[in-house]
Parts: sequence; structure tokens; C-alpha cells
Amino acid sequence: MSFVVGLTGGIGSGKSTVADLFAELGITLVDADIVARQVVEPGTPGLEAIVEHFGTRVLQADGHLDRAALRQLVFSNESERLWLNALLHPLIREEMAHQLGAAQSPYVLWVVPLLIENGLYQDCDQVLVVDASPELQRQRVLARDKTADAEAIMARQLERNERLKHATQVLDNSGDLVQLKAQVQLLHRQYLSMAQQKRL
Ligand code: ADP
Repeated sequence: MSFVVGLTGGIGSGKSTVADLFAELGITLVDADIVARQVVEPGTPGLEAIVEHFGTRVLQADGHLDRAALRQLVFSNESERLWLNALLHPLIREEMAHQLGAAQSPYVLWVVPLLIENGLYQDCDQVLVVDASPELQRQRVLARDKTADAEAIMARQLERNERLKHATQVLDNSGDLVQLKAQVQLLHRQYLSMAQQKRL
């Protein structure tokens, strides 16, 4: 059994940045956003089921899923949206479980934006929450992508304090990248020793 550290935080809190720092230390990442794309790659049962249901109008010319077209189809149709979620959620859960189990690093970092909202924190040995003020989140999201609708996404996410309640560790990302890296190195040493304890 892998020792699983869940990594979460609001949009723009710095999850991807933190995940990259752990990856640099040799830690395997299982990223929910990446897995969500993997389960609908060409040749997967996931994509096959979607095409069977919606037709080839949800395919791009190269055979990949046309996400924008699919989003459009389910956007204003609740029953189609529920159908899609009922298909995808178990596929994503299963693939994440497979990747978590297959991870070879001393512990594995499970990156899930909605880890708390979806109750997945219960499947983690530790829960690391990246925290930044809403002002800083907005600033960083806009600096990353001028067209991003940070407000809308933040409104759908858990409130900062609710998320923090579930944290076993909090990574304060109000400082610069040097400070962030130092905190990651400290946490890495803690997780290595926790993972070793669990194996004993
Ligand atoms: P998330 O994955 O949580 O949405 P990111 O890791 O993509 O957040 O960070 C959002 C943006 O802010 C990125 O452009 C990233 O480079 C930048 N960023 C993250 N942490 C810091 C920091 N400590 N100082 C300056 N910029 C940062």
C-alpha cells in the first residue's frame, strides 16, 4: 500500500507549483485533472461510451474528444450531465486508485482540486492544503490567464476555512517561491519519515 498524501487548495493557491516541487524531489504524482483526460483518450472504453451516447459530433477530426462540444451538450441539459458524470466518475476513481497503488516512490502525492468537496480526503494518509488569501488567489489566476473567471470558480469551491479544517498540514503560499520551496523540503522529510513508520 502506498502512503498517500492528498494535495488540495483553491484555484490559484499554488497546487500545480507545489506538485512540481514534490515531483522534482522524486515523488510520483497522481493528478485528478490528468486522469480525467486519460480516461477519455482515443481507444479507451470511456471515449467509446461517450461517442456511442452522443455520436461523433463530440469528436475532433483527429479522433480526440472535443471537450468544448461535449461541454456545450451537457451545459444546459441536466440529465445528460448526470449521465456523463455517472460514466466518468467511476472510471476516474478506478484509474486514480490504480495509479496510487502502482506508485513506486516512498509516498505518492494525490493532486485533487476538489479533494475535500468530493470526500476523497478520507482515502488519504495525510492531507496537505495549499493556502493563500483570496486576494492573492485572484491576482495569481489573472496573471496566469487574463481570461480566467476566478470569481466563478472560487464561488463553486469550498470556503477557505472549511478546507483548512480538513488539513493535516497547511502550506502557506503567501510568500515567494523560495519560501515555498523551503516549506516543501521540510514537508518532504516529514512525509518520508511518516511513510517509513507506516511500513514498519
Ligand atoms: P493552482 O494549481 O492551485 O491553480 P498554480 O500552481 O498554477 O495554482 O499557481 C497559480 C499561479 O501563481 C501560477 O502562475 C504560478 O506560477 C503562480 N505562483 C504560485 N505560487 C507562487 C508564489 N509563491 N509566488 C509567485 N507566484 C506564484
